Amino acid sequence: MFQPDLLKGKRILVTGGGTGLGRSMTHRFLELGANVVICGRREDVLKQTVDELAKETGGEIEAVGCDVRIPDAVEAMMDTIWAKRPLDILVNNAAGQILAQTHKLSTRAIDAVLGIVLHGSAYCTVAAGRRWIDAGLRDRVVMSILTVSSLTGAPFTVPSSMAKAGVLAMTKSLAVEWGPKGIRTCAIVPGPFPTEGAWSRLMPKERGGNEELVKTIPLRRVGEHEELANLAAFLVSDGAAYINGDAVVIDGGKMLQSGGGGASTQAMLDWTDEQWEALRPKRK
Ligand code: NAP
Repeated sequence: MFQPDLLKGKRILVTGGGTGLGRSMTHRFLELGANVVICGRREDVLKQTVDELAKETGGEIEAVGCDVRIPDAVEAMMDTIWAKRPLDILVNNAAGQILAQTHKLSTRAIDAVLGIVLHGSAYCTVAAGRRWIDAGLRDRVVMSILTVSSLTGAPFTVPSSMAKAGVLAMTKSLAVEWGPKGIRTCAIVPGPFPTEGAWSRLMPKERGGNEELVKTIPLRRVGEHEELANLAAFLVSDGAAYINGDAVVIDGGKMLQSGGGGASTQAMLDWTDEQWEALRPKRK
């Protein structure tokens, strides 16, 4: 699909790159010649991913333990990364998520989600951006992984929706502020992509599992990691150099189906031909 050296020479940090979609993006970036640093809190998970992906792709990958909620930890991580070579691309992917009734959330739970997604993305973005701008480095990219709820809102995941909407605002604001300095921003808005992390917390079997879910997606299936990883590789590559401040939705059309027509029209998607025939005006 891409030239095998599409990302050759690019040094990329993927926050939360040890698991799930972050791991899949890292895999693709390595295959395309990038040098990738992943971070997260669990060093054993990072180590395992580094070992596996180095073996699977033959690419250059390293890990730095970091809790992105802690400003000093983010600065220390950036110093460690810069000591070898400056980053070209930052991918804000780390996230936390809680499925709960909003009026029952503790302030600690709210702070935890806002801390990882909103503050963590801002700390990483500012730490990288400041280093790029101070050194006059251009052709740099910040890409953030959002959620559909950042555009529409969503019940029962309110702190995450708030935080991701904030990261979207950061993406659009910095496109204008940092564009003239040679730093562009973009985002991916994923629909449902099964992972062991966010996914398993958000899709407990009580919600009806995949069978119920796929009925809400026009393409009648969930996303493949490779599909998201390919979009990510394109957006951070020089081929997408004129994309700045945009958020690309990759959800099989789910957002449009949930948004348009309301529940009564949705039910019509399952109508039989006989039901549609009964609706036709009868000739006299
Ligand atoms: P995941 O496997 O749970 O990945 C989250 C990653 O973030 C983990 O590697 C985790 O590692 C890291 N992380 C969490 N807190 C952190 C912290 N304080 N500091 C540093 N790293 C931290 O979830 P996923 O499904 O792959 O989600 C990846 C991204 O896609 C997220 O931004 C999510 O919102 C977005 N997304 C996913 C879906 C989906 O269907 N899967 C849909 C829409 C959007 P540690 O726990 O070791 O720190």
